[in-house]
Amino acid sequence: MNKKYELIYEGKAKKVFSHDDPDKVIIEFKDDATAFNALKKDKFEGKGKLNCLISARIFELLKNNNIPTHFIKLKNENTMISQKIKIIPLEIVLRNKAYGSLCKQTTIESGTDLTKPLIDIYLKNDELNDPLITKDRIELMNIISSKDLELVIDLTLKINGILKSFFRNIQIQLVDFKLEFGYDDKNKIVLGDEISPDNCRLWDLNQKNDTIVSLDKDRFRNDLGGLIEAYSEINRRINDFI
Ligand code: UDP
Repeated sequence: MNKKYELIYEGKAKKVFSHDDPDKVIIEFKDDATAFNALKKDKFEGKGKLNCLISARIFELLKNNNIPTHFIKLKNENTMISQKIKIIPLEIVLRNKAYGSLCKQTTIESGTDLTKPLIDIYLKNDELNDPLITKDRIELMNIISSKDLELVIDLTLKINGILKSFFRNIQIQLVDFKLEFGYDDKNKIVLGDEISPDNCRLWDLNQKNDTIVSLDKDRFRNDLGGLIEAYSEINRRINDFI
């Protein structure tokens, strides 16, 4: 990264730099991978680039479907230019199928198809280990108004509809995903962060039997190997389709 850009923030998977235009930022996707609140760490050469390219494609798809996002354009293969937004400290998880923490915390069996999408909201706070949070607690903490929360939920459901059918077209089942939203300079709610195999569960539908083949970060979480191959396959299918 060119020296003149100031590092504003460094997260687990991305670095955010200033831009000449104060309403924009430059987001660099890193090769680092973390799981279980960063207790597990590794580095995968090429992951940053793949997540950046995949996210850019998906943000474009969402934009074409009237979903406001922070994405402006790619700067290069692992860097994008985005609107500067004030991130709402909530992680919105939508689940189409029961897996992961939902099955660890409830008696719902892994792999159950959910009759309607389930939205779980977590407080974005590493020190507290991103706890599951209620609407009443969100109100109590004054994180976001209930009207804006409804808007965020509505956008999440719309995004699910768009992504589910898009991924089905490329033979991928969208099991669940995590979104983050923020306020832009006009105080409008827009989708932020990234949409990539790092924050979605993507299962390959090109399987003859019921074997689960994860093309996402579960390859790292569960030591399955082949992470770069899986992310490259997602990127390849997206590019072949669009
Ligand atoms: N997720 C994420 N960041 C987090 C927690 C979850 O991107 O800090 C994503 C995860 O990749 C999955 C979905 O949110 O697609 C649901 O994850 P879950 O709550 O099942 O947690 P996990 O089993 O990953 O601990």
